[in-house]
Amino acid sequence: MKRPVLAANWKMNNGPTAASSFMDVFIPAYHPRTDRTIIIFPPAVSLPVVAAATVGRSDVLPGIQNIHWAEKGAFTGEISASMARDAGAQVALVGHSERRHIFGDTDINCAKRCHAAAKAHIAFMLCVGETIEQREAGETESLVTKQLREGLSQTPNLISTEFLLAYEPVWAIGTGLTASPADASAIQSLLRSQLRQMIGTRADEIPILYGGSVNSGNAASLLATDDIDGLLVGGASVEASSWLAIAQT
Ligand code: PEP
Repeated sequence: MKRPVLAANWKMNNGPTAASSFMDVFIPAYHPRTDRTIIIFPPAVSLPVVAAATVGRSDVLPGIQNIHWAEKGAFTGEISASMARDAGAQVALVGHSERRHIFGDTDINCAKRCHAAAKAHIAFMLCVGETIEQREAGETESLVTKQLREGLSQTPNLISTEFLLAYEPVWAIGTGLTASPADASAIQSLLRSQLRQMIGTRADEIPILYGGSVNSGNAASLLATDDIDGLLVGGASVEASSWLAIAQT
């Protein structure tokens, strides 16, 4: 994937009708670029709309916000990685803080989801990040290291697997607070050095994104920060005009 990677996480916004209106504005206005990759994570019901709108646009990839690790079966309400791929997803978000903190996702479940994505031949984006309490207790480094190592622990052949990381401090998500470029850069660099221990120089090819209250006003300075290879954007990605401004940063 071309860096920077700019990823939109719509969360539970933009159902099929709204997604269609969004793509009708975004796709014609966002001219194809070879110097970056855009990923859009719509709610699963809107994935076919986003996938249809991005046909022929290798620079704009449809994604899915969560996948189950099983291939199929009695898992009411869940979607497997191969089903997501069939519906057009090229990337699966794994371990977003809302999945971890609202729905109780664990590192071991995240590991299973990463493995399932790799097995279904879609990329995954593993999210890590600390709460404010963990930050104040000085646990940020050990926590994100654990989330990273456990999250990747069940994916064999990591070296040849397509994946991305996102550092998203929980206290910065949807709060209007943003990590300072220096703080974000320090954690991104820690993640990169952990990855190097795991997969050697291949680590340098893995995009590590920052997320947490990114908007069109702060996107440029964050992107200019050392070790930040892209942005994962929630609230400011839901409206096409706001997302367009960030995508074109
Ligand atoms: C997110 O949902 O990943 C996120 C970073 O949200 P927000 O940009 O709204 O803080």
